Amino acid sequence: MRFLMRVISVILALAGWVNSVSAQEKGTPPSPTLDALVSGRLKIVDLTWTLDETNPYWPAANYEPFRLTTIATLEKNGVLSKAFYTPEHLGTHLDAPNHFEANQPSVDELQPIQLFAPGVVIDVSARCEVEPDFRLSVADIAHWERDHGSIPDGAVVFLLTGWGQHWKNYPRYKNQDAMGQMHFPGYSAEAARWLVKERNVRGVGIDTLSIDYGPSKDFIVHHIINGAGRYGLENVARLEQLPASGFYLSVAPVKIKAGTGGPVRLMAILP
Ligand SMILES: [Zn+2]
Repeated sequence: MRFLMRVISVILALAGWVNSVSAQEKGTPPSPTLDALVSGRLKIVDLTWTLDETNPYWPAANYEPFRLTTIATLEKNGVLSKAFYTPEHLGTHLDAPNHFEANQPSVDELQPIQLFAPGVVIDVSARCEVEPDFRLSVADIAHWERDHGSIPDGAVVFLLTGWGQHWKNYPRYKNQDAMGQMHFPGYSAEAARWLVKERNVRGVGIDTLSIDYGPSKDFIVHHIINGAGRYGLENVARLEQLPASGFYLSVAPVKIKAGTGGPVRLMAILP
């Protein structure tokens, strides 16, 4: 009887091992507990740039820089209070599905479950340094999956282009040529379509001004992502501090009624 119990426990242990191996092969991150998170035992990376007047903003009509004014002071009013103005699409921000497509949810209509996700980072920074108009292809994703396992279902995928190093230098960050055309990397339409259809991503993010590459005129990646009810995350900070996979995300956009997006406090949680 005791021998039988031992055989059963060995079989169960082996089954557990096989399960965890196959889960890792699929790219599923190990599950940290919420206790470990709130007690400070997990590493948290803040993927959010600090909002201020020097932040890059979309260089088009009616877009303006971030502004902050003081409306009450401790000396005069006994309380310090400020007011801010910002376009929705400034700083580290979320593009809601209604940004580029009609009949899609606004930022306040995103469901809470959409705002928590496993995350992966596709590092193309070396290639973007020599090719500013780089666009991620489906073949690039396949190459990444050969090294790191399959992108988990419902993930947020980040493209690490290295553009974050230019954040404090607005002209370099938007990188306009003599004709005013911007040059920075992004996703290809095929990659965006593939990520939605084959990996059911909740959203895609990038460390540039736009998930479409700088020269884009049709914003096809925005149309594909938003048309599928998914969101974009732009001007994401510190992606170089994340592993390729195995982390989780908290995506907390400002909740504006009928908003097309807005500043987001974006956090990565590493087991
Ligand atoms: Zn945007």
